[in-house]
Amino acid sequence: VLETKNLHKKFHKLEVLKGIDFSIEQGQVISIIGSSGSGKSTFLRCLNFLEKKDKGDIIYQSKKVENKASSITELRKHVGMVFQSFNLFQNMTVLDNVASGLRIVNKMEKTKAEETAKEVLEKVGMLDKANEYPARISGGQQQRVAIARALAMSPDVVLFDEPTSALDPELVAEVLSVMQDMAKEGMTMVIVTHEMGFAKEVSDRVIFLHEGKIAEEGTPEEVFEHPQNERLQSFLNSMT
Ligand code: ATP
Ligand code: MG
Repeated sequence: VLETKNLHKKFHKLEVLKGIDFSIEQGQVISIIGSSGSGKSTFLRCLNFLEKKDKGDIIYQSKKVENKASSITELRKHVGMVFQSFNLFQNMTVLDNVASGLRIVNKMEKTKAEETAKEVLEKVGMLDKANEYPARISGGQQQRVAIARALAMSPDVVLFDEPTSALDPELVAEVLSVMQDMAKEGMTMVIVTHEMGFAKEVSDRVIFLHEGKIAEEGTPEEVFEHPQNERLQSFLNSMT
């Protein structure tokens, strides 16, 4: 469904992505691992044009996505994103956080949007907090609402950028469990994560990014049990 060909990105003189060829199929879960500064977030952000690529192509449903507002808006309707820092609207209730995209982007009427919002909140176990404000729920709960907000748009692909790394350790499991349910239901997911156990369990493929390049790629078994690349070996050792 989503591909990149020879993707390059620089910040001033710093080359962050040096030609990424990536592809994810419908229903696949791909995890991206790598040390800090390797370009993981930049890659995800380029995928849905939060960051402007310098060179290369982004291809959605076999069509090159053009760098113009209408194409980007269209892409973002189908490619959702969940951030490390939740990014909920603080002045809106949980329900409105989830329903607002449906009303504004999909022009859905209020009652229908709220009905859909409630369905996805139920899925992530947050329906009972529908009328709370983000400040009054835990980080793990906020992240589940952020996931519900992405799901409400019926995305084809959801991108996750370290969705649990801002959370207290005891709140990590509830978010991973929601993500695991999504994976089981066949959602197409690209997950940047430091949770190696989770990546191993949930992924169809794992990509190791090193200094802006894919240094190794394979099944969880290949990447975690039989790493070939020396950098990957020392990265994995540093994680345990
Ligand atoms: P982490 O695991 O710490 O999140 P990462 O793999 O996500 O790291 P990126 O955030 O993609 O890494 O950053 C890659 C490099 O690009 C870093 O050296 C970072 O400082 C630089 N960088 C990222 N965003 C910008 C920006 N907006 N302007 C300038 N430099 C940036
Ligand atoms: Mg990052």
